[in-house]
Amino acid sequence: MTIEVRNIVKEFGSFRALDNVDLRVETGELMALLGPSGSGKTTLLRIIAGLEWPDSGVVTIDGEDALAHGAAERHVGFVFQHYALFRHMNVFENVAFGLRVQPRKIRKSEAEIKKRVGDLLDLVQLGWLADRYPNQLSGGQRQRIALARALAIEPRILLLDEPFGALDAKVRKELRAWLRNLHEEIHVTSIFVTHDQEEALEVANRVVVMDKGRIEQIGSPGDVYERPASAFVHGFIGESI
Ligand code: ADP
Repeated sequence: MTIEVRNIVKEFGSFRALDNVDLRVETGELMALLGPSGSGKTTLLRIIAGLEWPDSGVVTIDGEDALAHGAAERHVGFVFQHYALFRHMNVFENVAFGLRVQPRKIRKSEAEIKKRVGDLLDLVQLGWLADRYPNQLSGGQRQRIALARALAIEPRILLLDEPFGALDAKVRKELRAWLRNLHEEIHVTSIFVTHDQEEALEVANRVVVMDKGRIEQIGSPGDVYERPASAFVHGFIGESI
């Protein structure tokens, strides 16, 4: 599914967090929103997901107004910062959550839910943890469960807010490779937020560099690395040599 963001403005009080943002995401892309803290990445992601309302501008999903018709709700799986798993539910119930709260006319039977959750736990290779509770899991396992939960409704768009930010370097590296593979397998249109340049350049097919509520550059990882238009990315190249 394509996503189109046009002229989005979002203010918090007198502070302009997003300043006329335009962006088009093509079907099957794995896009990184890269930029320093406070540049508006999370706010943009939340607006696309319908979790936040812009002051002006339009978001469309396959040409349909995402905000007016609940298109975002139907098609978007969201992975929150710091996993946001439900502490009082075991892994199975966490993953099943999105299926249990679907509108009655499309809600799956208990047998279908069991099958779907089983398939998702296989996909994230954690079937053996179905009965555990989130506090019994490692950070990497929690993040995989959060991904399985987001995928439960078979979203055609997957939005991830700093998915690996809370993990240590080794697990982060493993999960980056894993996200790329998963994306190749299920080919869902995906956007992930990161302030880590290396992560954006390594994982994404296309990188959007943001600063102060504006898009500074959009390009392939190669373009952004070789011809950075933003001081933020320049800094990275300077450090990496
Ligand atoms: P990023 O994800 O790039 O770190 P955010 O989108 O979270 O940036 O935030 C952009 C700016 O908007 C920041 O300065 C932040 O403090 C501000 N902001 C975000 N959400 C709110 C809010 N609910 N109320 C007030 N200010 C906010």
